[in-house]
Amino acid sequence: MSRPTDFSLNIEGIERDELEVDVVIVGAGPAGLSTAIRLAQLCKERGEERAILVLEKGEYVGSHSLSGAVMDPRGITDLFPDFKDQGFPFEAEVTDDWVEYLTGGGSFKLPITPPPLRNHGNLIISVNRVTGWLRDRAEELGVDIYPGFAVASVRYAEDGRTVIGVQTRDAGIDKHGQKKPNFEPGMDVTAGVTVFAEGTRGSLAKGLIKKLGLDEGKNHQLYETGVKEIWEVTEEVGKQLEGKVIHTMGAPLGTSGYGGGWIYGLTKNRLSIGYVVGLDHTDPGLDPHSLFVSWKQHPAIQKHLTGGKVLRYGAKTIPGGGYFAMPRFVGDGFVLVGDSAGFVNMQRLKGVHLAIHSGMLAAEGIAEALAASDTSATGLKGYVERFEAGWGKTELYGVRNFRQSFQSGFLMGMVDTAVSQLNGGRGLKARRAATEDHLTTRKLSTGPTRLPTPKFDDAMSMDKLTDVYHSGSIHEEDQPAHLLVLDPTICVERCTTEYGNPCQHFCPAAVYEWGEQPAAGAASPLAINFSNCVHCKTCDIADPYENIEWTVPEGGGGPKYTDM
Ligand code: SF4
Repeated sequence: MSRPTDFSLNIEGIERDELEVDVVIVGAGPAGLSTAIRLAQLCKERGEERAILVLEKGEYVGSHSLSGAVMDPRGITDLFPDFKDQGFPFEAEVTDDWVEYLTGGGSFKLPITPPPLRNHGNLIISVNRVTGWLRDRAEELGVDIYPGFAVASVRYAEDGRTVIGVQTRDAGIDKHGQKKPNFEPGMDVTAGVTVFAEGTRGSLAKGLIKKLGLDEGKNHQLYETGVKEIWEVTEEVGKQLEGKVIHTMGAPLGTSGYGGGWIYGLTKNRLSIGYVVGLDHTDPGLDPHSLFVSWKQHPAIQKHLTGGKVLRYGAKTIPGGGYFAMPRFVGDGFVLVGDSAGFVNMQRLKGVHLAIHSGMLAAEGIAEALAASDTSATGLKGYVERFEAGWGKTELYGVRNFRQSFQSGFLMGMVDTAVSQLNGGRGLKARRAATEDHLTTRKLSTGPTRLPTPKFDDAMSMDKLTDVYHSGSIHEEDQPAHLLVLDPTICVERCTTEYGNPCQHFCPAAVYEWGEQPAAGAASPLAINFSNCVHCKTCDIADPYENIEWTVPEGGGGPKYTDM
């Protein structure tokens, strides 16, 4: 039986307002806003009037944007050559960078920083401050931006493959799926071109890719989960690390999988710290938050945090599969940009510059298509042609085998990466295939592989619930859970014994809670605390049975990131 590709929670068969625009962009991250800005710039140059609408599910632009982040300025320089004069917000220019290898209790600095991790000239940024700045530039150019508008589904023409717009999420549905007094139906938005800029593992892009086979002949996308905090540290540490970039390898993950930590020195005695782990790790108890806490407890990290306090918390997945995992990103009536199209260079741990680049190229292709009144895949092919001829393709193709090479083991990944440096990105094989993350999880019967679980405290090693508080995440409680467990019997009858219910481990926001017994009237001991969800999408990716679907909740719900 084929799975559905549309999991909209909207009520069917009701009257809806209609809105017609030239271009609708789903998602106000760096890619979506760069698309809007470049398109508006081109329209202005040509004296054309175009209605450009950006829909953002977060309460405000940037509220769902999270990244490390050290940004290569190449993308923003293309979009605004005078971006610094225009007040582009960045924390610091990188003045020094190095890599530390963490052993069980010690650490050593690598004698040389590997070239992909050299960051001199790059900018340490807060991506949600960057999106706020891009929003202002877009609005100055006449772009309409609606925050708090989640998109529930893609609208197709009768041919079933031409995208004609989107339907926004109904508001005011209670947890039983019934209308509340404040019910407001979502809108039908019709657009010449729909831009999917939802970020990582977008729920609409996922359905679209599957429905239209946009990933046929491509590698499976591989994801990592990154867990991040912003810390206020002592003045001494703050001064010492401002503008510095540290990456760590080794403990606590060791060579058991792909991943590592970061420390970026911000201004005002603050640090951006975080830990990333590949979701193709074999351990059914993989817990990115626990790894992050264990990492913070390592003496090499602890020395920077002692005397400080946590300010913010968040998590997201990263589509790290690279060039071979990028879906076809142009079709009839639509384009995909940024993380939704896999524009991430995992070897450099960077995607913001590529997100901006993809948005600009998409906008140039869209402008041509609109001018020619041909928004079919053929009319939009200028986006693909520009990508093929541009620096983004060169960069991504140069590291095309990076991430999947680690599926042969950590050491093989390192060897392959080193060989790739010498032979232009080919590595040890012309093209390495990739196994989907959820298929790499080992069953409990194959032996204990559980990674260590740290002890928590209220100061440095917060548990998940305390950390969720620092994300600001909250949802209207009286609405249907936006996390759909497709077949609850699998959880109880198979997953408990086969995998030990990994959802209770891999979710970095303690959404999935397993009790001893089902609550009164419930079929399963699983409680889904959906209000905690930080929209990272780990569950949608890592569930070993693909039994969890992440759908959009009512607009405005989710994390309230600032400075992340
Ligand atoms: Fe992430 Fe899923 Fe947990 Fe939400 S429920 S925080 S999407 S793993």
